[in-house]
Amino acid sequence: MRYLITTSIPYVNDNPHIGHLYEYILADIFARYFRNKNDIFFLSGVDENGIKIAKSAIENNKKIKDFVDEKYLSFYSLKDKFYLSFDNFIRTSSENHKWGVYKFWQLCQDDIYIDKYCGYYCYSCEAYYEENEVENLICPLHKKKLEKIEEKNYFFRLTKYLDQIKLLIEKEKIKIYPQEKKIEILNILKEKKIKDLSISRDINRSYGWGITTPNDNSQVIYVWFDALINYLSGLGFGSDNETNFKKYWHEGEVIHFIGKDIVKFHAIYWPAMLLSAKIKVPDKIVVHYFINIRGEKMSKTIGNVIGPNDLLNNNLEPDVIRAYFAYQNIFNDWDFNFQNIVNFREGILKKELGNLILRIYGLFRKYNRDIKLQKNLLKKENLTTLNNYSKYMADFEINIAYQNIFNLVKELNQFIDKEKIWQNLSEENISTLAYNLIDILNVYQFLMPEKLNRVKNNLKIQDDFLINKDLELKPIF
Ligand SMILES: [Zn+2]
Repeated sequence: MRYLITTSIPYVNDNPHIGHLYEYILADIFARYFRNKNDIFFLSGVDENGIKIAKSAIENNKKIKDFVDEKYLSFYSLKDKFYLSFDNFIRTSSENHKWGVYKFWQLCQDDIYIDKYCGYYCYSCEAYYEENEVENLICPLHKKKLEKIEEKNYFFRLTKYLDQIKLLIEKEKIKIYPQEKKIEILNILKEKKIKDLSISRDINRSYGWGITTPNDNSQVIYVWFDALINYLSGLGFGSDNETNFKKYWHEGEVIHFIGKDIVKFHAIYWPAMLLSAKIKVPDKIVVHYFINIRGEKMSKTIGNVIGPNDLLNNNLEPDVIRAYFAYQNIFNDWDFNFQNIVNFREGILKKELGNLILRIYGLFRKYNRDIKLQKNLLKKENLTTLNNYSKYMADFEINIAYQNIFNLVKELNQFIDKEKIWQNLSEENISTLAYNLIDILNVYQFLMPEKLNRVKNNLKIQDDFLINKDLELKPIF
C-alpha cells in the first residue's frame, strides 16, 4: 500500500506550543507505523501567509519576512528535537507553494467569480461572520470586536458541491474519525446555511503580504484557500516534477491529521475545492482533540501556554514525551501536567517496560547460548494482543492500541514470575521471552525511536537464532 500522511500547517504568528507538538508527534507515530510495511510520504509544514501574521510582525516591530523566517525555525527545529520523520516540510511563502496555488486556481477557474463582500471580520479567525451569527459583533472564539468590512472579493462556488460532499461523507468515501465529528459535519451540511466562500482579501488590508490573485494585484488569496493547497504543492504539484503528487496523492491513501477546530475547512471546503479542480478528495480525516492545562484551553491571555522547549528543559526526554502523548485519549480533550508525565515515566516506562527488557536481558545472559526463535508459549495471548493493536491503530485509537501492548508487557513480567524462569532456563521459556520481546520492541519503536532502536540494535538475529552475546545491560529510562 501507499500512503500520504499529513499534519495541518500551523500559523507562524507565534512560537509553537505543546498542542502543535502533539499533532506532529501523533502523525509521526502513524507515519512510522505505516512506513514499516508500506510506501509512505509524510508531509508537514507551516502556514506563513495571512493577515494575522502580517499584524503580528508589525506588532513585534519586525519585517514580515524576517518574522516568518524566525518563527518558521522555531517550528522546524522540532523535527530533530523530537525525531519527527517528515519527508517534506513546506512553507507557504515559498515559490514552490505559489506555483501550486496558481495551478490550482486555474483548475477551479469556472467556479471563481467576483462580487462585493460586506461582513464582519475577525482577524484572529481569518474569517467573516454574519451579523446574526454573533452577539454584539464580538468574535465568539476570540472575544474581540469584529471589524465591519466592505470590499471586492473573489468568490468560490462552494455551494455547488455541498450535496456531493454530503454523500461522500455519508458513504465514508471521505471517512472522518471520530464518528462524532462526522455527525457534526453532516449536521452543518443539513442546515444548508453555508454560502459561497470569499477567497481573496484586499491587498492593503493584508499589508501586501500573501499570494496575489492571478492577473489582479489588488487582492491576495484568502489564507485558508492557499493553505489547504499545501497538501498538493508539498508533493510538487504545479512544479515541473509532479511524480510525488501522482504517486502519493492519486495512487495513495490520503490521511489528514488535524485538530478539532478546523474540521469544517478540511471536510467541506477542501473537498469542494478538489472536486472543482477535478482532483481526488482525501480518504481519511483524523481529528484529534486538545490539550488543556488545569481544565482550560492554552491561551496567552490566561498565561498558561507550555511550549515544547519547556518539556525538554524539565528533564523530559523526547522519547518519553512522545510515548506519553500516545497514551492520551486522541478523541477527547486531556489535561497536561508535569507530574503525570513523570509518573508515566516512572511507572509504565521504567517499572514495567524498562524493567522487563532488563530482566529478559539478564536471563539471556544467564542462559548463555544462542536462542532459537521458534517456541512461543504465549502465542495465543501474543496474537490476540497484536491483532487488537492493529485493529485500534487502523481506527487511529492510538491510546487503546498501546494500552493493549502494555498488557502484553505486564503479561510477560508475570510469565517470568510465575514460571520462575531464573530457575528454569528451558529453551522454550527463553525462546518465548525472545519472541515476545521482539514484538514489543517493534511496536514501541514507533513511539520511542531513539531509545528502542538502541535496544533493538543490540539484538542480533541470524537465521532463526538470536545471537546471545554482548547484550548491554543498561537502564533505558
Ligand atoms: Zn475570532
